[in-house]
Amino acid sequence: MCENEGEPVEVLPGIWRVEAEMVSRPYRITTNAYLLMGDDDALAVDTAWWNDVPTRHVDALAALAEAASAPLGGIFLTHAHRDHSGFAEHLSERGGDPLPVSLHRDEQPTVAAMSNYQGLPHRQAAIDWYCGFGFPAHTAAMIVDTKQPDHPLVARVMRWCEDDAVLEVGRRRLRVLPTPGHTPGHAALFEEATGVLFSGDAMLPRGNGNPHVTVRPFTAHDPLTDYVEGLRRLRDLDIRVCLPGHGPLVEDVDGLIRSHLDYVDTKMTPVRAALGDRPLTVYEIAGTIPWRGGRKSFADLVNDEWFLAFGDTLARVRRAVSLGWAVEEPRGDGVPTFRAA
Ligand SMILES: [Zn+2]
Repeated sequence: MCENEGEPVEVLPGIWRVEAEMVSRPYRITTNAYLLMGDDDALAVDTAWWNDVPTRHVDALAALAEAASAPLGGIFLTHAHRDHSGFAEHLSERGGDPLPVSLHRDEQPTVAAMSNYQGLPHRQAAIDWYCGFGFPAHTAAMIVDTKQPDHPLVARVMRWCEDDAVLEVGRRRLRVLPTPGHTPGHAALFEEATGVLFSGDAMLPRGNGNPHVTVRPFTAHDPLTDYVEGLRRLRDLDIRVCLPGHGPLVEDVDGLIRSHLDYVDTKMTPVRAALGDRPLTVYEIAGTIPWRGGRKSFADLVNDEWFLAFGDTLARVRRAVSLGWAVEEPRGDGVPTFRAA
């Protein structure tokens, strides 16, 4: 248990955070839920992990807002993943009328994919999708089965925000900034007056890893390039402090953005090295990349490691095409192959 696990902490004036531990994970990770206090109402930003976690974390935030006569007036989710949207329905239904749950509009496919097979209507369609990249059928089935349909995100009032939509919380104004890549509609929330950015999983502090950017049946074609462009847009803003979806706040925001951009470049290196004159499938390219920090080969991966590694490889390969390093051409059976440009 971390020191203040479950206890609200005022991390910045009028901004409170609780950390919820994701107890069902084999490794220790916490998710942050935030409360932004306005004059007579408050906004919840991300609602933490729900599985095996009592509601007291987020209830404590809601109680804090009520005690300050600024009860919760809405919920904003940086993205739909369950470790961030866990208690959205609970908070939305806690009082009288349901509170609106806001997400970027491009997050609709992620929400839809929570209740089916990665955006596809049935298991076999998802297996076929992976086989279409050269995966053996049994591996494709294993990948699909590690991502069974999840508990869907169904709030009674969903608000789908456009780019640059402004959420008002009393006198505070927060802008919805698209930061796609981790999910198609991932968005950060930025308060220009204070320079505070709620970054969700678009930026994570050191020690909390780098955001997963993967291609799935429901994602954009080249999410890694989308991710890089989103980070570059953030670089142009005067962000003074970043409140991430996991881990502590970060003040060296420029350094954080740079480290994430550098990480993308580092990830591209083995893909570039794998590309040659001989056309390779995504499955074959994934086989040449070192995984788990060089501790595992692709063949040694288990369960959802395969799922991440495949989507990650395809994301890198598509970025290689966008950068003009690789050429895509279909093999005789239609499976796409890639060679050096
Ligand atoms: Zn997360």
